[in-house]
Amino acid sequence: MPERTPLVAANWKLNKTVGETEAFLAALTGRASELGGVDVVVCPPYTSLPAATEVAAGSGIEICAQNVHEEESGAFTGEVSIPMLADLGVAGAIVGHSERRQLFCETDEALARKVPALLDAGLLPILCCGETEADRDAGETEAVIERQLTADLAGVDDGRLAEVVIAYEPIWAIGTGRTATPDQAEEAIGFIRGLLRGRDAGAADGTRILYGGSVKPDNAADLFAREDIDGGLVGGASLDPGDFLAICRAAS
Ligand code: PEP
Repeated sequence: MPERTPLVAANWKLNKTVGETEAFLAALTGRASELGGVDVVVCPPYTSLPAATEVAAGSGIEICAQNVHEEESGAFTGEVSIPMLADLGVAGAIVGHSERRQLFCETDEALARKVPALLDAGLLPILCCGETEADRDAGETEAVIERQLTADLAGVDDGRLAEVVIAYEPIWAIGTGRTATPDQAEEAIGFIRGLLRGRDAGAADGTRILYGGSVKPDNAADLFAREDIDGGLVGGASLDPGDFLAICRAAS
């Protein structure tokens, strides 16, 4: 079975100016030697991407975007394309975050194009999926995840599935302080691995699947200790360099 290097990604959402980004990354890169054995990704807002790639250069910390458009160019006011990100030295993008699905109408059809387009450009897709509280209460968690991932990964060749990072993010745990228990997270992520196994055994063993939803320094180690949980996608607790570093160390 291939070794999966853990990955922890910071999703800053609508937070931090350029100056705040530079200060955070200066603090984090100054302690990069403590980050052995874990891939660390920071996803600032678009406006901070050039400064972030500059400060992080050579540190091993990768900078990704929080979204991207599937078209390379055209009449899409307000959007940013994959070649534009690549031009800045950005390493990838979060796609399918529940806030984008719910608040900005990001569709599975768009995701089915975004994921392979990122791979074709040599960029890392961090694809989010997860159920609402109502879905969970109705016993629909697995059906929702299966529907999302079947659609969103439809355009990815089986041999390239392991190049996608998947983040399981139960929506009821995002920004709420209610973390899924390690058992709940492991169960859902094990289900996702089973879905991948249905397409390709190598993909099931090689794909990194993260947990996201109120990960904090004091719960990260219990979550990341589980066999199938390969790290985390972290929102609120990623805004403080000390907290984020502690979470990264819990995965290493
Ligand atoms: C997220 O936005 O992806 C997230 C997991 O947020 P939080 O850690 O704040 O729940």
